[in-house]
Amino acid sequence: MGCIFCKIVAGSLPAKKVREDELMLAFHDIAPKAPTHILVIPKKHVGSLAEVTVSDEALLGRLLGAAAEIAREQGLGRGYRVVISTGAEGGQTVDHLHLHLLGGRQMHWPPG
Ligand code: AMP
Ligand code: ZN
Repeated sequence: MGCIFCKIVAGSLPAKKVREDELMLAFHDIAPKAPTHILVIPKKHVGSLAEVTVSDEALLGRLLGAAAEIAREQGLGRGYRVVISTGAEGGQTVDHLHLHLLGGRQMHWPPG
């Protein structure tokens, strides 16, 4: 199948991996929008946050917990932002659920 994040999970597309366990994978965004910009994804294909069900609650917890641990490891003690773009109007461009972990600069509100 054509999903690029599934290809990264499978190892057929390269990525700068940061962290991995049986449920999730984290890697550096190819076009960083902040000094630290890491994507945290489930290993199984989930199209977007709009597609999760109650059976994915543990997975969602793992993704968010991994983002917090990575933020600590990356020295983001002054703060960071976690973003989940969802659907076309949400700005999602890759249809495999992913958390953006952004840090290392001042964030602004509202986001674009
Ligand atoms: P979104 O626009 O929220 O769906 O986020 C998709 C993100 O994936 C963007 O920030 C892209 O820069 C990033 N991206 C796309 N292809 C790759 C890739 N091969 N490796 C790492 N990050 C990627
Ligand atoms: Zn996928």
